[in-house]
Amino acid sequence: MAGGKSSTLKKTARHNYNIPETENSASAIVPLNVDPISMVPEELAIVVDAPLVSSYNDRIRPLLDAIDKLRQLKVMQEGIQLPTIVVVGDQSSGKSSVLESLAGISLPRGQGICTRVPLIMRLQHHSNPLPELHLQFHGRTVQTDENHICDAINKATDEIAGSGKGISHTPLTLVVKKNGVPDLTMVDLPGLTRVPVHGQPEDIYEQISAMITEYIKPEESIILNVLSATVDFTTCESIRMSQRVDKTGLRTLAVVTKADKAPEGLLEKVMADDVNIGLGYVSVRNRIGDESYDEARNEEARLFQTHPLLSKIDKSMVGIPVLAQKLVQIQAAIIAKCLPDIVRKINDKLNENMSELNKMPPKFSSVAEAMKAFMWIIGSSKESLRKILLRGEFEEYPDDKHMHGTARLAEMLSQYAEELRKSAESNYSENFLMEEIKVLEETKGIGLPNFLPRTAFLIILQRKVNEISGSPLQFVSKVWDYIETVVLKVLMQHTENYQALESSTRRAAQNIFVRMKEKSLNRVLEIIEMEKISDYTSDPEYMTAWSKLMANNNAFLEVMNDHSKPTKIMIECFGDIELGHLRLFPSQREQAFDMKMRITAYWKIVLKRLVDCMALHMLLSVKSLVNRDMEMEIVNVHMDPEGGGIERMLEEVPSVAIKRERLNKSIKLLKDSKEVVAKVMDRIAITGD
Ligand code: GDP
Ligand code: MG
Repeated sequence: MAGGKSSTLKKTARHNYNIPETENSASAIVPLNVDPISMVPEELAIVVDAPLVSSYNDRIRPLLDAIDKLRQLKVMQEGIQLPTIVVVGDQSSGKSSVLESLAGISLPRGQGICTRVPLIMRLQHHSNPLPELHLQFHGRTVQTDENHICDAINKATDEIAGSGKGISHTPLTLVVKKNGVPDLTMVDLPGLTRVPVHGQPEDIYEQISAMITEYIKPEESIILNVLSATVDFTTCESIRMSQRVDKTGLRTLAVVTKADKAPEGLLEKVMADDVNIGLGYVSVRNRIGDESYDEARNEEARLFQTHPLLSKIDKSMVGIPVLAQKLVQIQAAIIAKCLPDIVRKINDKLNENMSELNKMPPKFSSVAEAMKAFMWIIGSSKESLRKILLRGEFEEYPDDKHMHGTARLAEMLSQYAEELRKSAESNYSENFLMEEIKVLEETKGIGLPNFLPRTAFLIILQRKVNEISGSPLQFVSKVWDYIETVVLKVLMQHTENYQALESSTRRAAQNIFVRMKEKSLNRVLEIIEMEKISDYTSDPEYMTAWSKLMANNNAFLEVMNDHSKPTKIMIECFGDIELGHLRLFPSQREQAFDMKMRITAYWKIVLKRLVDCMALHMLLSVKSLVNRDMEMEIVNVHMDPEGGGIERMLEEVPSVAIKRERLNKSIKLLKDSKEVVAKVMDRIAITGD
């Protein structure tokens, strides 16, 4: 007998799906406290008379029909799970035989892999004594009959999964309308096999196992685990798989086949429940060989009545009719439980897709529409760029530091200023004034000695300017490279989804940046040239700085003239300076000293100008780029009739077109589904009181 644990589990499972305790009494089942279906209890009341006859109230049928319709609409593609009875079992455990027994028809049976695609079996009781069978797949319906069903299924399977031994995820639906069958929808899946048979792909086990998992994983699935009485249940692959997704077995029902083959110990096996089956066991005997369906049922009944061992099993746990009845009850309960959730999910998904569709760029049907959108895009890109590059407002990119344009530009400028300052600093203490003396030597002329030749000053100035002239050039190209990335990012963001506009905008940006960079470089070269060609400033700071520096003149002369003095002096701006070597150049050193102090005072002005001019130039350029040039260039390139003109915007990017189609399709599907459930909910509301 089972321990306390599994019997508690069984009770919980029964409670969950409202399976009555005394299963053979076939009393009414009462669905759970599910709100919109709170009126359902009566709906679900089941009266079992003839065992396999559609055995429950007609009013539950619409619910099942609605679910089947949703399945047909492929609502599962939208990630909405439907309550489903999934038949699993190891190969040759008797899955197809069980379905066959439930449906009262013959299904492909036998060795090797027969079921290669998910087979959705919809059994429907109808009053007409003539059965009606058809297959649905690939959007087609194929009529068939009981004699040809095997061939028809095999043919359809070949069509879906190819004529080899491979499997396919595309389901095949078999509708069986027959007098006396239970209203049930079940999915039969390929059986698990560890060793591929000849012609099967190497990874067949993984493929099948993935397919089974996909079907049994959702909480909405009821797992009908088909076990052969001839095997040890604990070794079944299908048990292992279902335990992985349904640990406590709350949604697993076991069907034990081939009771006739292994009657010994079967009672003990199902009572022990070593494998945690929450919804209970039903032992059956399927059709053997060429038996007719009725013969098979009679044989089964006789077997469980008369067999010395099998007759000991409680009648609520044996036979196809009991299985049918249990499945019908479980199905009704799970549908009632899931339906409100399905309704909610359909609505959520529908809203989600609708808002996504609304967010998509509109498809233009006229040039005027395209023009309007074009102007809007230009206007909004311009506004974004103004914020980023001119006004320093970055609410559009709060966390993207790269896009905080004004701050990054200011950083680049101060870096540039720092670089300039550093690159002009040379080592003063060595050979102090020697460069000046050499230049003076070469620029001397016939004249009075106390006139400082201007050319000497200019030569030194030019040398210094040449030395640092690389920095301003580097600075402008760095700044433009940076601005280009910012502008492109903004433009691409505004034009994504409009392929034509995106590419012409990119081209326009390329054009404009080539021009901008060239213009700036010319400007920089000009500025550098200006600094080289003349020396001028109106800044009084020059005179102040020079006077301050010249205050050191006396100390300098003292060292030069009084050889007993130490040869090192301290001069502000230069630090400690060795002067000993200058005692050898009495004629030029005083002029050289004066010139050095002038250059030093003037150089500060030059550097300041190089920074200020560049800053103002960049500000002006960026402003005209953002306010005018960019827009004009985009308009020019985009409107260029040779490039296809504005009409090109009427064409949609393939990826956008695909997405739009997908959304539209999905919205249609969800709307249809919504209608299906709305109808049955209405019905419940009307008839339910
Ligand atoms: P599937 O691979 O799980 O679909 O298994 P099948 O339904 O094809 O059955 C495999 C084999 O077991 C077939 O030869 C069936 O005739 C046989 N079989 C199935 N159920 C029973 C049963 O209850 N008793 C006996 N004796 N044989 C059965
Ligand atoms: Mg099979």
